[in-house]
Amino acid sequence: MRNVIIAGNWKMNKTFSEVEDFLDDFVDELEGTDHAGVEVVICPPALYLELASDYAQDSTFFTGAQDVSAHESGAYTGEISASMYSSMGITHCIIGHSERRKYHHEKDSLIHEKLQKLLAEEIVPIVCVGETLEEREAGITRNVILDQLKGVFEGISFNDPIVIAYEPVWAIGTGKTASPEQAQEIHAIIRQWVKAHVSPAAAENVPILYGGSMKPENIAELISQPDIDGGLIGGASLDAKKFIAMVKTAVEM
Ligand code: PEP
Repeated sequence: MRNVIIAGNWKMNKTFSEVEDFLDDFVDELEGTDHAGVEVVICPPALYLELASDYAQDSTFFTGAQDVSAHESGAYTGEISASMYSSMGITHCIIGHSERRKYHHEKDSLIHEKLQKLLAEEIVPIVCVGETLEEREAGITRNVILDQLKGVFEGISFNDPIVIAYEPVWAIGTGKTASPEQAQEIHAIIRQWVKAHVSPAAAENVPILYGGSMKPENIAELISQPDIDGGLIGGASLDAKKFIAMVKTAVEM
């Protein structure tokens, strides 16, 4: 049985005091919630990782970064390496988010390098894949996803924990959610790819999260699908009440 994962991607939001307020409220609520079988991950902006991981020490959530450098160290102004994260106890890291692909022109080959850096530091990568609206309307969603999987995961053994997030770009921050059937169809394609190209055991074990306007109102129908193992949540993870409500729904299912 795979654990369910509820991960919050805060993107570039919140001031320091807003982070403290969120964590005060959230940690209190989480403490009173038996969430065995449901892993909770919070991915704040890098500047707040230390604060979040301090709270995580006395709580039961994991702290994740939103991106990592493909380089180890040196003259890469503004970048943060995987070894820096691991030296601070950061356990997870999102890579390949569509906003990185769009605004920073990240390609699958670069995401593959980032993936290797994270695995070398035993940080759990949360690898995002997803099609744009144009690609969906052109009927090439399946091929787009398969190309991304091949480009990012070629030669990766899956011996260490890896999380995949299916995030249809047209559903991110738009309020439009993929229907449970649409999401399940792509999750099954992803799992099938892992089965065929890595191993049946890897396919059985890999958590595949859905991301794209997931919220308290729609999480249950999405995560009740057989191949949807949780959510990568943007907007709705910024509100402690909404985020804890989503954790509680996952616990009840
Ligand atoms: C995301 O950015 O990973 C995301 C899923 O955002 P939202 O939930 O706001 O659509």
